[in-house]
Amino acid sequence: MKYPILTIVVPCFNEEEVFKETAKQLSSVLKNLEEQTFIDSKSKILFVDDGSSDGTWSLIEEESSLNDYVTGIKLSRNVGHQNALLAGLETAKNMSDCVISIDADLQDDISVIKDFIVKYHEGYDIVYGVRKRRETDTFFKRSTARGFYRLMRKMGIHLIPDHADFRLMSKRALDELSHYQEANLFLRGIVPLIGFKSAKVMYDRKERFAGTSKYPLKKMLSFAFDGITSFSVTPIRLVTLIGAFSSLLSICAAGYAFIQELLGHTESGWTSLMISIWLIGGLQLMGIGLIGEYIGKIFNETKRRPKYAIETDLYSHEKASLPHQK
Ligand code: UDP
Ligand code: MG
Repeated sequence: MKYPILTIVVPCFNEEEVFKETAKQLSSVLKNLEEQTFIDSKSKILFVDDGSSDGTWSLIEEESSLNDYVTGIKLSRNVGHQNALLAGLETAKNMSDCVISIDADLQDDISVIKDFIVKYHEGYDIVYGVRKRRETDTFFKRSTARGFYRLMRKMGIHLIPDHADFRLMSKRALDELSHYQEANLFLRGIVPLIGFKSAKVMYDRKERFAGTSKYPLKKMLSFAFDGITSFSVTPIRLVTLIGAFSSLLSICAAGYAFIQELLGHTESGWTSLMISIWLIGGLQLMGIGLIGEYIGKIFNETKRRPKYAIETDLYSHEKASLPHQK
């Protein structure tokens, strides 16, 4: 029987505080799985340095020379979590049977990696890690996340609730993923579209054990906004509806004013006039802005820019040290 080669992909942006511990813990997970003959001995942990400005890359280099499980690629600049993850997945894909993605801060429970592999052996192509409880997140993050999933569902976008980017994907699922060529990448929305047999594994999400979150509120909001506008045109439809409704309202108001005029109750009401101008003007601006947002998306998609560039690749070198490869 052939054991699958597993690669664990870990995007890292300024994670020098957590790197050592993460590498240590993931290595011991791989070692255990290998001893229990769940995976092949060629399995690796692939750290993706997403243009960190601290010492993350030198730590990765150092660790990869000491620890056979550890390898890494360095991106040419910071491209954000989703693109960094994609860089890792696409690099790992060619040389693995399955790939697990996980954050560098080990907030996701690494002991369920074994369950992922068990599911893979049972024939599942995608295994989603789903958080059981979110009590370690702040109340604010918890309620915004809940609101986000509800909003997405309303708009017809089916995400796996409480699943972040902790998941296993088989090689063939990854091959399918590479056919999704959109520039605005939102993996959580795309992966469920791939299909295949999928399973969920529940786990408890922990605190970040060191370092700070790289997702401040501003990034979170733009992530949510991107997620919605990349997958749904409901917001545009909503604006059209609001526009139609407010036009109807102003027609009624005009009718009312006309009747008042006929009855001789001439109004000197500038207030109502001003209010409606502001209201309609505001709605129009909102509509134009929203349409602009979608046009911007189209603009970005048509450029077909590469989503990342790999500056140094320790992984492929080790795996296939062909003479012509630098
Ligand atoms: N990350 C990245 N590029 C970025 C921001 C974050 O590769 O521009 C990585 C980060 O190092 C971590 C993961 O994405 O491994 C998730 O980030 P974080 O833990 O800060 O997010 P949170 O858990 O707070 O949502
Ligand atoms: Mg985190």
